[in-house]
Amino acid sequence: MTRLPEPPNPADRSGELSAEELERYARQLGPGVLTHADQTRLKHATVLITRAGGIGGPAALLLTMAGVGRIVIAHGGTLESPDLNRQVLGSESGLGQARAAQFGEYLRSMNRFVTVEVIPREPDDEEVGVLARRSQLVITCAPTFAERLRLNNAAVAARVPLIDAAQWGMTGTLMVLQPHRTACLRCVYPTTPPFEELFPVVGAISSAMGSLAALEAIKILAESGEPLWGQLVTYDGFRGRFHQVELRRDPLCRCCGQPIVC
Ligand SMILES: [Zn+2]
Repeated sequence: MTRLPEPPNPADRSGELSAEELERYARQLGPGVLTHADQTRLKHATVLITRAGGIGGPAALLLTMAGVGRIVIAHGGTLESPDLNRQVLGSESGLGQARAAQFGEYLRSMNRFVTVEVIPREPDDEEVGVLARRSQLVITCAPTFAERLRLNNAAVAARVPLIDAAQWGMTGTLMVLQPHRTACLRCVYPTTPPFEELFPVVGAISSAMGSLAALEAIKILAESGEPLWGQLVTYDGFRGRFHQVELRRDPLCRCCGQPIVC
């Protein structure tokens, strides 16, 4: 069995927001944004984000700054020069070094009221299942369909919402999925599509989709606003157009469908 590191002691999770926390989040508290109770729910939430590169990095950064109590990021490998057109948690001084550690260090530097946990690899089936069960929300920003579908399996099994954010070149996609209520990612991709190793990525699109994923996560965790449940949002950055469609659940889906009784 894969051994997981023990989570570090969380920031003050005793209940109420401290005066310092209220000062930190003052600009996002008030009419039309978050209530005190919404912010408290964020403080007590855990979010798993894999991976934390072009899309997941901005998502993790914004959720850290917004005050989500525990952020768990999973990302393997070392930072390479071509990563720096989009991976906002890295820097030139970190080239050649492990991505996860420096990403985690940067996130911690942004908000001492948040606990950041780092998994320096892409989790396997078993590990991601454990991580999903410890989370209130899973965000998958992985480039491979196999990894995205692995996260989907774990989220459906743990019955936690899944936000899937992806991009190809100047186009980005976002799906907000609730197990057993909306379509799951396997409903959308009954067979695993092939993976193109070096597909084009533009940092501005990565960050846009990461920001939208973070916003949906905040609404879900704070129980505020209207999350895009069961929707696929596509942003055609080349033409500056958003499209939105409702995803249809597959009753025979091999991940979230009903088992066939013979
Ligand atoms: Zn499904």
